[in-house]
Amino acid sequence: MNQKGGGVRRPAVALLGAPFDANSSYLRGAAEAPAAIRAALYSEATNLWSENGTDLGDGLLLSDAGDVAAGAGEDGFARIGEAVAGLLDRGLRPLVLGGDHAVSYPVIREVAARHEGLTVIDFDAHPDLYDEYQGNRLSHACPFARVMETGLVRRLVQAGIRTMNGQQRKQAARFGVEIIPMKEWRGAIPGVKPPLYISFDLDVLDPAFVPGISHWEPGGFSVREAVDAIQCLPAGVVGADIVECNPRRDPSGVTAAVAAKLLKEIAARMLETGARAAPRGRR
Ligand code: MN
Ligand code: MN
Repeated sequence: MNQKGGGVRRPAVALLGAPFDANSSYLRGAAEAPAAIRAALYSEATNLWSENGTDLGDGLLLSDAGDVAAGAGEDGFARIGEAVAGLLDRGLRPLVLGGDHAVSYPVIREVAARHEGLTVIDFDAHPDLYDEYQGNRLSHACPFARVMETGLVRRLVQAGIRTMNGQQRKQAARFGVEIIPMKEWRGAIPGVKPPLYISFDLDVLDPAFVPGISHWEPGGFSVREAVDAIQCLPAGVVGADIVECNPRRDPSGVTAAVAAKLLKEIAARMLETGARAAPRGRR
């Protein structure tokens, strides 16, 4: 979308915490992640520069909108959606810190409503395409079924998948999901065009790098491979989330540190110009 007045203003990124884990199927704890990731991000052990030389600590490029009041179910999801809508209204690109992966549904729903033709890139060990899981249609095993049912997303590309089963294979075919299984990973996600949304489930990484996640799924990406994949994406990343950090399994804090590193690299990518949000009501 073109802007009035010529010249392209640099977008800014806003962090938003979504401390929700009531839709987790196995372990609680992801609700504690926004605080842990912020602590790692602003730790004196490191700085706020991304690898491409962007200073996220300059006070302009990255702001923090705080946390959405926690809760489960549709009420909580509505609050997440409202918070994301508020950021988009102000021309900010939301970078949401989960929480478990269930929170991505209300976030993507809102971003997709403002960005026609959105492509969602999901880094995940799991496709999260179940119609329902343990009787819960809002489970963290289901967000991409709900996202695809909105009809608002043009493409869903999932990278790093290594737990595909029969039911989810059917769902992937039903929704036309493009799967890049871990065993077929070749270093980058080819052929994607903006506007883009990145959903980063930390369990796409090998648990050797991120023990502080709820579902250990060995055989995943190294941190370096994930950072390279993010840096190779085209400009026009209009929204993102980082989910499934579980501080209760992260006594050393290394998983939160990895999440903070990914946050910096994703934010730097989001600060590259590209598609911008349409005015409210337009799609
Ligand atoms: Mn997931
Ligand atoms: Mn996962």
